[in-house]
Amino acid sequence: MSKIQMVDLKSQYQDIKPEIDQAIQNVIDSSAFINGGVVKEFASNLAAWNQTKYVVPCANGTDGLQIAMMALNLNPGDEVIVPAFTYIATVEIIALLGLTPVFVDVDPKTFNIDPSDVEKKINAKTRAIVPVHLYGQCAEMGLLSAIAKKHELFIIEDFAQAIGSEYKGTRAGNIGDIGVTSFFPSKNLGCFGDGGAIFTNDEDLASKIQMIANHGQSKKYYHDSIGVNSRLDTLQAAILNEKLKHLDEYIKNRRSAAKQYDELLKNLTGKLEIPYRSANTTHVFHQYTIKITSGRDRLKNFLSEKGIPSMIYYPLPIPKQKAYQKYTSDSFPVSEKLSNQVISLPMHTHLTSSDIAFVCESIYSFYK
Ligand SMILES: *Cc1c(COP(=O)(O)O)cnc(C)c1O
Repeated sequence: MSKIQMVDLKSQYQDIKPEIDQAIQNVIDSSAFINGGVVKEFASNLAAWNQTKYVVPCANGTDGLQIAMMALNLNPGDEVIVPAFTYIATVEIIALLGLTPVFVDVDPKTFNIDPSDVEKKINAKTRAIVPVHLYGQCAEMGLLSAIAKKHELFIIEDFAQAIGSEYKGTRAGNIGDIGVTSFFPSKNLGCFGDGGAIFTNDEDLASKIQMIANHGQSKKYYHDSIGVNSRLDTLQAAILNEKLKHLDEYIKNRRSAAKQYDELLKNLTGKLEIPYRSANTTHVFHQYTIKITSGRDRLKNFLSEKGIPSMIYYPLPIPKQKAYQKYTSDSFPVSEKLSNQVISLPMHTHLTSSDIAFVCESIYSFYK
């Protein structure tokens, strides 16, 4: 048995090597490294796949979030509601634009932003909510959309971890005003470097987004707004265009791995909790994250000694991070507890049944 990996990008590549290699070679032969034809082609294929009207590719997911905020004309001092338990990118650009991140605790079962806590944090300065569909399952978008409507707030979905997940039949990225995803290599649709995309069904927003991502340029050398330079490389677009053809299958593989984990781990109820499935959303298992009642770090070390990798996403809630403590001294009891309880097990498209069985047997032996 080969070594179990957290993410196995090599096997995924081997399966479609000829197509990927050819796609890369075509870009090199064309020399159209920036804004080559395949960038548009990929954006249009992705829009169709995700049932979204407009997709604007960009350099990475973090840029995508920044461009989304800029397109919504948010101004310094405006408040943006974010979950306390997420990856730093969600919050970083808010701070960078001089906006004020307002942290909200998460639901202990879904790990996603808690709508009842969102309502409590809304005031006259609040302009937007950024739900993060953490680990691959949509936040409670029905309630969040109702709150946003009532208070006239924008919603930017951070679905970097959840491409393909659906909330009551609607694809992630289509529920809020704007959706942003990432093609970081380990994401569910990953390229061979950095990449990202911004999704919207609003034509005006789409053209603003397009313009901001391209130096605020309305036509060449005419700049109508302050923008950024954020492009998806043609090489990355060509790779993604090939991988997109397999995304449904990749999601299927992740789900079947999750199902096998569930079956093997459910007898440990009381010691650990398998991922909760919300009735309103499908799960694409960017991560398979379990909760350990106590001894999480000991389990992590135990697995590591058996050659099994695992990860802690995330060990410290954002408002407790040094750089972000200035925004609030509130406590976020659920996020703080989760950061001590969660552990993500190996999860990727090429995990075998015997890999999963070995991981689960090892967890059993930890508890013997
Ligand atoms: C990966 C990720 C991003 C952005 O990622 P980039 O590395 O900038 O492409 C944003 N939010 C979340 C929750 C992520 O997991």
